[in-house]
Amino acid sequence: VNPERLFEVCDRVPLLRDLDGLAPVLRALPNADRKRLENAWRLGRRFARAHVSPIALSQEAAMHDDPRHVDPAFLEALGRSGLLSMGCFPSLGGLGVGATGGALVLEELCAGCAGLGNLLGAHQLGLAGVLLTRNLELSRRIQLEVIEGARRGTPVLLAAAVTEPQAGSDVEDARFLRTARICTTATRVPGGYALTGTKVFISNGSFARYVVVGAATDRKRPLETWTMFLVDATSEGFSVPRVEDKMGMKANPAAELHLQEVFVPDAQVLSDRVGDAMEATEVVLAASRGPVGAIATGTARGALERFLWFATDTRRAGRPPIDDPAIQDAVAGAVQELTACRATWIAATTAFDRLGFGALGRGAVTRLYGLPGAGLAVRLFSRSDARRQRLGELLQERYGGRTNDRVLAHASLAKRACSDVALAVVGRLMDLMGPAALEPEWGLEKAWRDVKLTQIYEGTNQLNRLCLYEKGVAP
Ligand SMILES: Cc1cc2nc3c(=O)[nH]c(=O)nc-3n(C[C@H](O)[C@H](O)[C@H](O)COP(=O)(O)OP(=O)(O)OC[C@H]3O[C@@H](n4cnc5c(N)ncnc54)[C@H](O)[C@@H]3O)c2cc1C
Repeated sequence: VNPERLFEVCDRVPLLRDLDGLAPVLRALPNADRKRLENAWRLGRRFARAHVSPIALSQEAAMHDDPRHVDPAFLEALGRSGLLSMGCFPSLGGLGVGATGGALVLEELCAGCAGLGNLLGAHQLGLAGVLLTRNLELSRRIQLEVIEGARRGTPVLLAAAVTEPQAGSDVEDARFLRTARICTTATRVPGGYALTGTKVFISNGSFARYVVVGAATDRKRPLETWTMFLVDATSEGFSVPRVEDKMGMKANPAAELHLQEVFVPDAQVLSDRVGDAMEATEVVLAASRGPVGAIATGTARGALERFLWFATDTRRAGRPPIDDPAIQDAVAGAVQELTACRATWIAATTAFDRLGFGALGRGAVTRLYGLPGAGLAVRLFSRSDARRQRLGELLQERYGGRTNDRVLAHASLAKRACSDVALAVVGRLMDLMGPAALEPEWGLEKAWRDVKLTQIYEGTNQLNRLCLYEKGVAP
């Protein structure tokens, strides 16, 4: 397997080679925004070619033997490249790429290996919980830890944990949380909360330093008491009893987490008040479902690239399959569908970045973080519950409510549309390849197993359709 040859084949295809060809939508953006996004895209592509594609198959094999395996050299490279902190505020040393820039990077990484790409995606999901909290002191501290850890070569990763053994879809939607059978509870204790319960399928859960955890203070009233906490994985009572032996995205371990009276100090409560976590979850999903569309699109694009390599370098009846007009027609069809997918997820992430809470990333608050004395000011501000709550209300008025509903509708549409189309595209390319599609070296069967998962997480596609109806269609 020679990824250099794969890159060579792709670079001869204008629509795969450059950003202008790939995403005409971006050309309409103001110069500064376009530059920031182009830089993120270039960084993502460079990193994918140097660190993802070359190890995609070997990582897959290593994780097959040991689902807990994570390559420390890969994590270190991810940190040093700046990608682990790309979502952090520029005033603190991050890249401030927003949802769109982050998703461009994810598309690139997933074209190389969706498991390794999803590892960054799961970190971004945990980080989103920290970036969007009104606990400014905590947000500043964690962002600095992520940025400095990455620079030092000791990466600090995050995860997000809401799913429980008896509640998956039910904790992703307010309508279902009301009757969800949840097991994780947060009990008030002096100076904070004690968390007890189990979370399942948590991507990055086996090696993340911090886990954003949803828990109810009253299990009988989950919706009214669902609250978000930042759990330090080195805390007493935190354990990882098992890591799933998954079929797809093997390079991104998904773990079961046990919490036995894990103490979370008040300073690490992400919520403004007990019971506001579903509002926060809807904001995080508005940010993260568009990027899942990018993960799906990237995975299918990787399959298309590998198919082109196959169709160029092999021979059928003495000729390369790509000379066959039927194959050319099928390839054009796949390019058309994936370009439409990209436009769909870019519409969703752009809505979040410009209309929704993402607009905050460019706002005055984030610039203030970088000023001298900002640490102290943020600390004093965050210690007042009343001020934090008032800020929460102001932001909710500006970016939440109906605005976030509209953004979430776009995000759910993109997540569902891209994952369904991407799976169908990979399946069709495999049909065209015939038995060779099952040879691991070509990477097509891996892409199919990988992309299947994008229909399931971040809310199953059925749940995303219901969300699209509720937030974007229902009068
Ligand atoms: C690879 C992978 C990584 C994951 N990573 C994370 C992570 O990092 N953090 C995390 O918290 N979770 C994670 N998850 C969990 C994921 O979010 C859940 O699997 C998902 O929400 C579905 O929940 P469930 O598996 O319990 O299925 P269920 O909710 O039991 O759903 C089973 C089926 O019933 C359907 N269904 C359920 N309720 C309804 C309804 N009301 N109306 C119509 N249809 C319905 C669903 O669409 C689905 O087809 C991950 C899952 C996978 C597979």
